[in-house]
Amino acid sequence: MSTFGPEYVRAIAPYQAGKPIAEVAREFGLDEASIVKLASNENPFGVPESSKAAMAKAASELGRYPDANGFELKAALSARYDVPADWITLGNGSNDILEIAAHAFVQKGEAVVYAQYSFAVYALATQGVGGRAIVVPAVNYGHDLAAMAAAIDADTRLVYVANPNNPTGTFIGADEIEAFLQKVPANVIVVLDEAYNEYLAPEHQFESASWVRKYPNLVVSRTFSKAYGLAGLRVGFAIAQPEVTDLMNRIRQPFNVNSLAQAAAIAALNDKAFLAKGAENNAAGYQQLVAAFEELGLEYVPSFGNFVLVRVGSDDGAGARVNLALLKQGVIVRPVAAYGLPQWLRISIGLPQENATFVEALKKALA
Ligand SMILES: *Cc1c(COP(=O)(O)O)cnc(C)c1O
Repeated sequence: MSTFGPEYVRAIAPYQAGKPIAEVAREFGLDEASIVKLASNENPFGVPESSKAAMAKAASELGRYPDANGFELKAALSARYDVPADWITLGNGSNDILEIAAHAFVQKGEAVVYAQYSFAVYALATQGVGGRAIVVPAVNYGHDLAAMAAAIDADTRLVYVANPNNPTGTFIGADEIEAFLQKVPANVIVVLDEAYNEYLAPEHQFESASWVRKYPNLVVSRTFSKAYGLAGLRVGFAIAQPEVTDLMNRIRQPFNVNSLAQAAAIAALNDKAFLAKGAENNAAGYQQLVAAFEELGLEYVPSFGNFVLVRVGSDDGAGARVNLALLKQGVIVRPVAAYGLPQWLRISIGLPQENATFVEALKKALA
């Protein structure tokens, strides 16, 4: 029994990542090549060719530290989102942005508001600074923004909003988000986590970056891990007004985004064809999965991301049981009991063949 460190650190439940392919191959005596991983909302097309070429070029400079200020990547993001470069904070994945926000804006004992069934890192970031979590019950597995605004108390410094949300896939439209922003007190930071934004259909897209001009307490968080296919490199970014950006940059490690990641992200940002291909595959794969769930009579939460949450049974052992049956067949998905959803599994949308392999394995697992 350790007595090192503060109580609030000892109380943290470690993040449970998706099982790596090599680990499942070892544990279940399977051939790695036969394993389908639909567990971590990764891009099934992998790294864009444009990013691979950019990394090959950047590799010869790895003896030097990366550009601490990320000049070129910020310039590219600045042009893309029509904000000044000094409104951008780069992160080692957007996970880093979520952590930086907690460290920059929340002291021990102050409160952070986020939704039930929202991204696990909000709890971790809050606990890591000794913050007090105010977890607002979800409605239909999504954020109840009116209740979240009402939950903000005098000690609240930060609110996390995931849109679309992970692991449930729910989405909140522009009007509702803006009504929420108008209700939040000016001294409370809102981190709008849009990790899956690029997967939204055009009619759901809105320029959240432009809201940053209007709301000095808004931090828009984005990532290259999902639609851009660069999860292993760890690069994300935030857009916020200069006062907030300046504070986040003081907390940020100077070299938090490595040289290869910066080069790859610039290339990916300009690779419109890669994003389009991914969005198209995702839309088709979503239909493929939900058609199977409907055929099997399984409840699912309509999703706006690159994954679907599906209820695989009506007892609290169901998620773990079906997950194990899938693993034995070489299919890795994500159990979400740690989110308080023990009857559900989260399935990342893969290539058509991967989705089909999953569906066949699911049928056997349920039989
Ligand atoms: C995946 C994810 C992130 C973080 O991903 P990074 O790889 O750290 O950029 C952030 N928020 C949500 C909701 C996610 O699902």
